[in-house]
Amino acid sequence: MADWIPATVVANRHWNNDLFSLTLEANIEPFKAGQFTKLALDMDGKRVQRAYSFVNPSTENQIEIYATRVADGLLSPRLHALEAGDEVYITARANGFFTLDEVPEGRHLWLFATGTALGPYLSILRESEVWRRFRKIVLVHAVRYSADLSYQGEINALKNQYPDQLVVQPFVSREPVQGALNGRVTHALQDGQLERMVGLKLSPAESQVMLCGNPAMVKDTQTILHKKGLEKNLRRAPGHITTEHYW
Ligand SMILES: Cc1cc2nc3c(=O)[nH]c(=O)nc-3n(C[C@H](O)[C@H](O)[C@H](O)COP(=O)(O)OP(=O)(O)OC[C@H]3O[C@@H](n4cnc5c(N)ncnc54)[C@H](O)[C@@H]3O)c2cc1C
Repeated sequence: MADWIPATVVANRHWNNDLFSLTLEANIEPFKAGQFTKLALDMDGKRVQRAYSFVNPSTENQIEIYATRVADGLLSPRLHALEAGDEVYITARANGFFTLDEVPEGRHLWLFATGTALGPYLSILRESEVWRRFRKIVLVHAVRYSADLSYQGEINALKNQYPDQLVVQPFVSREPVQGALNGRVTHALQDGQLERMVGLKLSPAESQVMLCGNPAMVKDTQTILHKKGLEKNLRRAPGHITTEHYW
């Protein structure tokens, strides 16, 4: 049974028609960057719950969730409509192993996200450990339209803070956008375009990779990385690829 406690909505920022960020206040237990919580609302006498990654670093008290309104989804349209002062249920204890604790040592850390899966990386990148452990960090964020590139202010602040360490490569699949690669991450991985753009090679000797979001991206990217010699990271057999599926 989940340990549900009430959370108060402090703000609901709408980035565009569907993408939104909830700021919540609740008395939750400490969590690790990269982990997720569960949010729930009671609907027709049933508690409907879904998983959401923390966007805030663990050092910040206010909880932040970055989500999209899924057309015909059960919970996300209701979360999208929440306003300051509303209440939602949250689990007191965090879940998940998509954290730096689970990522073996490496020289370069590659972070691949589709859409809202940017969230856990923002949490990780706003804590100090990642910058101590990796010489270079490549953040690859794939979206459909330029309007889906949320959190640019936070990303630019990180680029300014770590100009020699952080490389950010957005992908926008459905329209040409300056500074972003057009098309799919998997194609740019396959033909070497991504490595050329960021000026780094993906290799078992140097790279650790985290993949988060759309299960098709996670699966297809893993297949390409396997061909480069990178293996799935397991506790019993440390490798190079750590994953989280959003559905
Ligand atoms: C570990 C984990 C962490 C997650 N973290 C987040 C998060 O931080 N932000 C977030 O928006 N979602 C996140 N999700 C997905 C979230 O739990 C819900 O599935 C999502 O909000 C849809 O719920 P729903 O009830 O509205 O839709 P449902 O009626 O449950 O429909 C589910 C369908 O919605 C689609 N879908 C689900 N999530 C997404 C998404 N993020 N982007 C696009 N399409 C999606 C898929 O087609 C899926 O089959 C996470 C899931 C997991 C397992």
